[in-house]
Amino acid sequence: MLFSMSAQILDGRKVREALLPKLIEKISGCSVIPTLAIIQVGDKMDSTSYIRAKKAFAKKIGVSEKHIQFPGNISQEKVIDAVRECNTDPNFQGIIVQLPLPAHIDRGLIINAIDPRKDVDALTAVNIGKWSEGKGILPATARGVQELFEFYNISLKDKKVVVVGRSELVGKPIAVMCENEGAIVTVCHSKTPDLVSETRKADIIICAVGKPGLIQARHVKEGQIIIDVGINRKENGILVGDVDFESVKDIVAGLTPVPGGVGQMTVLALFENLADIC
Ligand code: NDP
Repeated sequence: MLFSMSAQILDGRKVREALLPKLIEKISGCSVIPTLAIIQVGDKMDSTSYIRAKKAFAKKIGVSEKHIQFPGNISQEKVIDAVRECNTDPNFQGIIVQLPLPAHIDRGLIINAIDPRKDVDALTAVNIGKWSEGKGILPATARGVQELFEFYNISLKDKKVVVVGRSELVGKPIAVMCENEGAIVTVCHSKTPDLVSETRKADIIICAVGKPGLIQARHVKEGQIIIDVGINRKENGILVGDVDFESVKDIVAGLTPVPGGVGQMTVLALFENLADIC
């Protein structure tokens, strides 16, 4: 008899709810109410909606935040000044600069202006150095993915992990996290000649590209775990990941949905980072 098995859904919402009480307890044990400065340049729709989600989550867990928004044409120097003010303001325990920044602003300069002790996204050079060696806090998406694996008892030790995407913000930290957990990691990118043959060798595929439908049935095989980090807004406003959910769900063993997967974990992990540095 022919039958198909559906993948286990690795449910970011469920994991976040399960981990929430511990975070709230940690936050309430801080000596001050943690306050996060959120710096935004411009009014990109996706950035604004991510910030809205962070603010709502902050409220839910008893964290205070200040959203500092500048027009898209503000000078780089003014953004650096704002970051420095937040560095010296004792009311802020954490600072994030919402990415991406407009093209005329040097992301590295802005990020590295953040005091590493307040760098909740762990993207300053100092903090990259630390998490590369498995120390300190991880960038939120990498931490979120790590906690998703932990929750579902998926060990990375000796697993073949293929990370598709190598950005400083997402792909690279995830690859380093997996390597530090003992995985054998291959990183693929836009120049990878044969993505299908790479992904089919993996036990776990983590896709962080930003291209809807990039990972299709032909990229996967039975038994794999697929983590879809991509968040893409279709013309009709619907959010989808990088993985063609419908075509892979009856082949693989485990799969994160979009929405309701890694995005949920990223917001949680950001505030776990804040609690850790308070
Ligand atoms: P970037 O555009 O910075 O990086 C995309 C990466 O994908 C690059 O390394 C690029 O390769 C690679 N790539 C592009 N096309 C292909 C292809 N055809 N095959 C293989 N690799 C390819 O994006 P981000 O890393 O910032 O974000 C990636 C996705 O993750 C986006 O959808 C974003 O919205 C989402 N995201 C989700 C979060 C969450 O919490 N779930 C958090 C943050 C981001 P190359 O280096 O060669 O250019």
